[in-house]
Amino acid sequence: MTTKIWHPFTQHGLGQPIPEVVRAEGALLHTEDGRAIIDAISSWWVQTHGHCHPKIVAAIQEQSAKLDQIIFAGWTHEPAQQLAKGLSNFLPETLDHIFFSDSGSTAVEVALKMALGFWHNQGQQRHRILVMDHSYHGDTIGAMSIGARGVFNDAYAPLLFDVGSIPFPESGAEQATLDALVAFCTDQDNPPAALIVEPLILGAGGMKVYSPKILAEMHRICQQHDVLFIADEVMTGWGRTGTVFACEQAGVTPDIMCMAKGLTGGVIPLAVTAATAPIYDAHFSEDRAKMFFHSSSFTANPIACAAANANLEIWRDEPVQQQIDHIAERHLEFAQQLDGHQNISAIRQCGTILAFEIDDASGNYMSALGPALLGFFADRNVLLRPLGNSVYIMPPYCITDEQLSTVYRVIEEAIDHFA
Ligand code: PLP
Repeated sequence: MTTKIWHPFTQHGLGQPIPEVVRAEGALLHTEDGRAIIDAISSWWVQTHGHCHPKIVAAIQEQSAKLDQIIFAGWTHEPAQQLAKGLSNFLPETLDHIFFSDSGSTAVEVALKMALGFWHNQGQQRHRILVMDHSYHGDTIGAMSIGARGVFNDAYAPLLFDVGSIPFPESGAEQATLDALVAFCTDQDNPPAALIVEPLILGAGGMKVYSPKILAEMHRICQQHDVLFIADEVMTGWGRTGTVFACEQAGVTPDIMCMAKGLTGGVIPLAVTAATAPIYDAHFSEDRAKMFFHSSSFTANPIACAAANANLEIWRDEPVQQQIDHIAERHLEFAQQLDGHQNISAIRQCGTILAFEIDDASGNYMSALGPALLGFFADRNVLLRPLGNSVYIMPPYCITDEQLSTVYRVIEEAIDHFA
């Protein structure tokens, strides 16, 4: 018997080929059959500076020979301390407490538990979490509960907890979102504990973009009504939207912020949930029952922290922001070019992310167009993974002009072929 690998978000019954990657550098993935594939989705939105960045590789090598892993409950180490210090140069001043975990989903779970613990430890019964329609926050039970319901989680529906949903702020209908938020926030019978949002752009929900003004307004409403504001920057963080964190564009400082993916440059798993002093203080006590009851075995793994420290150095020493701005400019030009195409709609851009829809009758995630497009792109050595009929580009910042032009050309070919 051979043990078989069960891949994520993969229907093995369709028998689609699963290419094997043997090596990667920059924006290129090299396969065992000798192809060089342009990674135009940053390997599931994680890679920021490109694959195998020498500084991150060196940091991992050095740290793994020194201290590989240590329990973090009651113990500490230098890479974690250095990271805490380094993050203070990137985070708003008030987000001055960080809690480590190891994925975006766990960062979100931690945020929810922090918010509920905050109210619980003050003797207040606040359990309701407010969410935005079409959101995605991960695949653990808690993270699924606060995400969009549908085919992804139908089987688990009985386990998912109830939330209060506000509509996505569609252009021209933003007031409905704000009104719904106010209605939940003023519900005396069930006052919310927190609102969690993906700031500026909803990723897995279809790269849906909304304005910094609405983000700021939602934050203001939460502040006014004493509802905690959680920003899930797992996808948006580390430059994707044009600024290091999306919240910056709205001048918003959340009470709790989740980050993962690009925290280590996307090389090795690590997540951080950052919180303000009042959240921490609500758990600070001589009473052990009030401690924050959360951990995972690899919390603050030293090798992962060393990779994150190298990421911060790259942000400090290399022209990362210029690379981001350049991609944003190129996307803008391409978006104008796309505008002339028939059967293309909803062209939208948020920093380094460009998305549009190919008109399709089913128009949802399960659209057969998705896998067909995926295969079309793969045949042309480009890794793009449309969300149903929504095509998006989210490249690593090191992508060259030539590689980006190839991605654009292949997308135009796909439009001519499918639209
Ligand atoms: N939150 C957001 C906004 C995400 O986009 C994702 C993953 O794509 C997650 C949370 C979950 O992160 P992970 O896959 O690392 O658990």
